[in-house]
Amino acid sequence: MKRRTFIKKTAASGLACTFPPVLTLNSDPDYSILELMGKAEIALYGEGINLREEAYEAFVKMKKAAYSDGFDIKMVSSFRDFYRQEGIWERKYLRYTEDDEMQPLDAIDKIIEYSTIPGTSRHHWGTDIDIIDGFPKITGDVLVPEKFEEGGPFMKFKAWLDENSESFGFYLVYTDEPKRRGFKYEPWHYSYAPISIPMLTAFRKKNILKLLQNEDFVGCEHFTTGFLKTYIQNNILDINQNLL
Ligand SMILES: [Zn+2]
Repeated sequence: MKRRTFIKKTAASGLACTFPPVLTLNSDPDYSILELMGKAEIALYGEGINLREEAYEAFVKMKKAAYSDGFDIKMVSSFRDFYRQEGIWERKYLRYTEDDEMQPLDAIDKIIEYSTIPGTSRHHWGTDIDIIDGFPKITGDVLVPEKFEEGGPFMKFKAWLDENSESFGFYLVYTDEPKRRGFKYEPWHYSYAPISIPMLTAFRKKNILKLLQNEDFVGCEHFTTGFLKTYIQNNILDINQNLL
């Protein structure tokens, strides 16, 4: 796949390039590989929100409910395409391997504490959000777990989310479940389950390993099959069980 090659429309035309058109009578969404990997241009809704339509509508409802309870939900990050993720990946990889002189595999392990391999971010789906409360005055980075914990500025907001987010369809992805592997605890990252569950199901049906082996970005030459299998198992699939 060439860099910065955008496909105009999502599932239907993406598939039409490689397969003859198939007449489907059910309304099950069929997510293309390009769409699942953030390489398709999808319709996004809401200025500064940028989610799929249904997720956007649910988000607005949750935002209103939170506001009437004294919280101003602020979107820090929502949809991010493959190429943005590739930029994040490359910046971190070069910083760790060149500035910090880390070994490539150590650098990759450090990147995947919080950042995904391009093509595997849930932010590619238009269903996932990183959110904070806009009311408290904050210094420094906002997306750090301590700010959501006891004594932190988002402690009450987090308690509100624990109580209410699921009723709007938004589930915490990277929980603080002690046995969970993969990405570290992210108290700010929520996923709109009614869409992200079928998208993850569709992604699992593709050969993710092979898709990643076919990629070409800085550092990916160090990926071994074993590393990628562990990554898929831990970082893609070891998430909140309610999202599987
Ligand atoms: Zn996130």
